[in-house]
Amino acid sequence: MADDSCPSSSGISLNGFSRRRLIATASTLFILPVVPRMAMAGTILAVRTWPADEYTRVTLEMDSELKAEHFTLEGPDRLVVDIQGLTMNRAINDLVSKIRPNDPYIASVRVAQNRPDVIRLVMDLKQPIAPQVFTLKPIGEYKYRLVLDLYPKVAQDPLLAIMGNKDSDPLAQVLEDLAQNAPSEAPIPSVNGQKLPPIAKKPQAPAPPPPSVAQPRDEARPILVALDPGHGGEDPGAIGRNGTREKDIVLNIARRLKKLIDSQPNMRAYLTRDNDYFVPLQVRVQKARRVKADLFISIHADAWIKPSARGSSVFALSQNGATSSAARWMAQRENDADLIGGINLGSHNKQIAQVLLDLSTAAQINDSVRVGDRILSEIGKINTLHKNRVERAGFAVLKAPDIPSILVETAFISNPEEERLLRSPAHQDRIAKAMLSGISDYFATRPALARKA
Ligand SMILES: [Zn+2]
Repeated sequence: MADDSCPSSSGISLNGFSRRRLIATASTLFILPVVPRMAMAGTILAVRTWPADEYTRVTLEMDSELKAEHFTLEGPDRLVVDIQGLTMNRAINDLVSKIRPNDPYIASVRVAQNRPDVIRLVMDLKQPIAPQVFTLKPIGEYKYRLVLDLYPKVAQDPLLAIMGNKDSDPLAQVLEDLAQNAPSEAPIPSVNGQKLPPIAKKPQAPAPPPPSVAQPRDEARPILVALDPGHGGEDPGAIGRNGTREKDIVLNIARRLKKLIDSQPNMRAYLTRDNDYFVPLQVRVQKARRVKADLFISIHADAWIKPSARGSSVFALSQNGATSSAARWMAQRENDADLIGGINLGSHNKQIAQVLLDLSTAAQINDSVRVGDRILSEIGKINTLHKNRVERAGFAVLKAPDIPSILVETAFISNPEEERLLRSPAHQDRIAKAMLSGISDYFATRPALARKA
């Protein structure tokens, strides 16, 4: 896939951005006669912040590619970023007010003209960070972006996120043991081309009691379902005619489904994204593998050029070509998420993606189609089906070699009637319940999972 094109993002999904761009253009036109721009100076078009526990991202969108240098200072912890070729304007000053009090990493930001052509940002930090600073070329409706990712020096292990309250969750001890005994070779979420911080070792708890002979560990272990709400942060996904954003709808549905799953006696759900921030496709897969998920479900909402397109679809991975050109188009669109969301692309990206694909086994795909069938038939009871069988295409997010993985397009957000349904909490609940029924059905008929010890 070429990294400078995004066939899908132009017409359908970016109504919101087009509007924003129009406003930006209008205000530029308005200002131009009054304040002539310096020939060489770049202009900040927009500033966005995406605070999350995993990492906080700050995006500066500009009309040209600018050079930035950064360094960190200790006592107190600060991140200093010098951006060359930039003079002060209102958009960059907006950054100060965009830092939210609950940001896990940034306490405050100061912006100043450091030298005639250099803007200096100083971020006062709440904890030591390992920053990633990189630029992105224009894509979709975005112009040049300077991205500041603030990762913690020591990352939180995704396994810890599954553990519920120790006092109220009967499975807490089992999950804690799982975290303690996670093999060192288990994949640790990271992005190609950038070194992410090491995962925190859990503080040593008192020695757990020896496992009971009557109850082997594997049976005590709950079924773990990784739920993957698509898109997030810089990547809104598809956008409906009334402005409904795919990233918000799918997060709501995933949260509802997680609640339902967690209330089952022997099942727990794990969210690969639990807020509005960007998670690279490969990291989503790695997180699911790290927690040794028994099932991976990526949740999305379709868009199509024609508003008449409607209905739910379920996809499994295909290693050799898509089952239809629409399925291929859909996979391409979903795979573009990394480009829109903004990944620090390493040179080995394509190579590693290929290895991942080769590792995917026929067994994984067989199981994926089986669970997909169950979910599709349950969803068919509450919504029109776009296709009444599981479709296949090369979705990057379905490439865990050892976890049955499906992608559910819950409905067409580009269809006004389905957009309305997707916004409705009652319909979101119906989708979540249908998915739970399908999941339960699958595990009931297939209890002996091929778990890697
Ligand atoms: Zn999507």
